[in-house]
Amino acid sequence: MSELRCLVCGSSQLDPLGYKCGRCGMAIGLRNEKCYVTEETKEKLLAHSSELSKFGIEIQQHESLQKSAGGDLAGVGIALQIVEAMRPGTLRDLVCFLRKLAVPEEEVLSLRLDEPEQILTYYRMDKKRNGEDL
Ligand SMILES: [Zn+2]
Repeated sequence: MSELRCLVCGSSQLDPLGYKCGRCGMAIGLRNEKCYVTEETKEKLLAHSSELSKFGIEIQQHESLQKSAGGDLAGVGIALQIVEAMRPGTLRDLVCFLRKLAVPEEEVLSLRLDEPEQILTYYRMDKKRNGEDL
């Protein structure tokens, strides 16, 4: 899949020149490019990879060497591969699942699962509903 999305907010809207995100102006990347999320989020996703595979998501790990001011920093980068085409209901369940794992909103966006508006709607909708139920 050669879908281009913003590395930060996950939007597929590009600026008129097609070099960056039309929504937030950040860099764009291919779906197989690694996700820019925290170590904590990576660990959560890796620990729940079997549940994620039920949503049609496959986690790919990439050993990476990142240059930093203090020298080389070894780290594992992850990329999410959407194996099966997702239906709207599946995406909603997936976003709810990630929220239950306490993955922050902006990290869910960085996973580039779908348009940010869609992700945020699901992420917030359910929270509100839970609030009303309590
Ligand atoms: Zn963006």
